Amino acid sequence: MNASVTIDPSIDTTLLEGLEFACRPDCGLCCYATPAVDRAERAELLHIAPESTFVSDARGGTYIAARPQGGACQFLSQNRCRVHAARPFPCAVFPVIVHAGTRFQASAVLSCPGISIAGRADPGSSRALPPPHGLDTEFGRAKARCRSQDGRRVLASARRDGRRVERALEREGLWVPTLQVRESLRGRIPLPDSSDFPVDDPPELEEGEEALPLFFDDRLGPVAIAGHAGGWQLVELQEKGGVRAWLGVWPPPTRMPPLEAAAERALRDYLAYWLERDALFGFVHMAMIEEPSGEDVLVRVTRELRGIGATVVARARVRASGRGGISPSLAEADIERGIRASDADLLDRAGWTVQL
Ligand code: SF4
Ligand code: SF4
Repeated sequence: MNASVTIDPSIDTTLLEGLEFACRPDCGLCCYATPAVDRAERAELLHIAPESTFVSDARGGTYIAARPQGGACQFLSQNRCRVHAARPFPCAVFPVIVHAGTRFQASAVLSCPGISIAGRADPGSSRALPPPHGLDTEFGRAKARCRSQDGRRVLASARRDGRRVERALEREGLWVPTLQVRESLRGRIPLPDSSDFPVDDPPELEEGEEALPLFFDDRLGPVAIAGHAGGWQLVELQEKGGVRAWLGVWPPPTRMPPLEAAAERALRDYLAYWLERDALFGFVHMAMIEEPSGEDVLVRVTRELRGIGATVVARARVRASGRGGISPSLAEADIERGIRASDADLLDRAGWTVQL
């Protein structure tokens, strides 16, 4: 580790306020995943379960392989973890995630059935939210990792990269404040067309936790889609939480179905919501390095938005067909059900309908 790097170990926990968490026994929903492992975790797993198998991605990441039948992690047995004491870091902190950006921020995967957002569900209120309840252990582990030598190295590196990008753009006079980018994009929410449709682009392993679908919202019905190399997985959820059945890996659709008017509106709202997320602006700034012209960047951003929209449509299509839907066009409910939930999505949902 570079000893001259100092990082602020404080973590913004605002998004955890008002949440309550109690893991549901026999749920296992978060185990429909291929969690990343580091070298020590891999050795520990091989020690207690010598039959363990792993997969690697092109960037050198190692992940626990999913079982060939059933889609979930190979250690999931009757919705319980067989290697609980040696489960890797992403499992030990779930549903808490700490993001390393220009600051460190903790959020929770709100579609985990063990999370209750009742303490937050008061949009527009200015009252102080109660501290999170039941997340202490998972958050404590995440914080400990951020403060460990390894964690500090990773986080410091992410921060250095971010600052380097910022400084380089500032030097070139290219840094565009977030508000200005947002302003420039108003009224420019393009819907995807067939050329954006991700026929050959199913989710990748390295999408990691973002690939977890984990819808658990009464409005959304009992079927969720999980990322899996080569396609999307369908799992059927139980109303009390957890997985009732694995419905298989579905290949990506071969063409884009037409959107009904209400579905088009839902998609536009979702893309507008994406505009409000920091992730998009991270992309904007990275894009500016490659194409240093404001107009080019905006073109790329709008193209990227169409790509996000196309993925939403594809997931909705798979999900609708998994539920026996045969309509050639997608309706609003299909789109809503195809939008993946992660992190703070539910907290921000009221903002989906902002007028752009
Ligand atoms: S999804 Fe949530 S409730 Fe279900 S096992 Fe995982 S942490 Fe527990
Ligand atoms: S290691 Fe255990 S907790 Fe982690 S995904 Fe696999 S079964 Fe679930």
